Amino acid sequence: MSCRIADIPVPPKCRETLRAGALVSISTSGGKDSQAMTILLSRIVPRTQLLAIHAPLGDVEWPGTVEHVEATLPASVPLIFAPVASGKSLLDRVEERGMFPGVRQRWCTAEHKRGPIERELRRYLKAHPRFGGRLVNCLGIRRDESAARARRVPWRRNERMSVAGREVFDWLPVFDLSTDDVFRVIRDAGQSPHWIYRHLSRCSCSFCIFSPPGDLRTAAELRPGLYRRYAETERRVGHTLSPTGRPLPELTGIAPVRRPEDPAGPDRV
Ligand code: SF4
Repeated sequence: MSCRIADIPVPPKCRETLRAGALVSISTSGGKDSQAMTILLSRIVPRTQLLAIHAPLGDVEWPGTVEHVEATLPASVPLIFAPVASGKSLLDRVEERGMFPGVRQRWCTAEHKRGPIERELRRYLKAHPRFGGRLVNCLGIRRDESAARARRVPWRRNERMSVAGREVFDWLPVFDLSTDDVFRVIRDAGQSPHWIYRHLSRCSCSFCIFSPPGDLRTAAELRPGLYRRYAETERRVGHTLSPTGRPLPELTGIAPVRRPEDPAGPDRV
């Protein structure tokens, strides 16, 4: 049975692995869930075992995300970045593939987040033998987010990464927290969530395949330059960001406009 420490239920095997001195990586996106997870983990895991890791998505993520991650990281927790090795942006890859990611072919997460993060964690473990190849890989996934996420197991051995002398577990420390809990943890720690929560309920790519039309409209208003690039990419590749198959201008009701005073189309954020 799990026992609860400071709002986080810690499975027995997790306790044992933490006591054995495993590295505890915090995948941090800049969103509220990973921010709350970082706060809670920094209370129960020695800082010498903690590592924050962020996969930067460049200009397709909301401006200020990297700065937010840096500003809200507890003192003396190292932060490393996991960029895509090719240096290509998500939109570059859409052009190359001739299609946007889909709900079933979610290559954006695999290529631009999970893959680079796992690569950097392997490197970090190799460069820091004091962890003995033991890793607890923490993800800010919550049961309440979706039916698919509710089916996730909050603690499990990561078989794919547990090779070549490594023993890796995936842990979802904030799995049982509600949205209110998450904001409370952030507020009680004296922090603020990412600025985008003043406009939207999710901090994802500015234009995400999962964004409902209302969120896409808000994003188009906040980032007209990036909106135009997405709309032009849709036209060029003949495929839409939205899995509904409806192009962005139809979904948002906003025509992408090239501004004569700034060919790149200035963002409002
Ligand atoms: S935020 Fe959305 S579009 Fe961006 S990587 Fe994640 S699923 Fe893909």
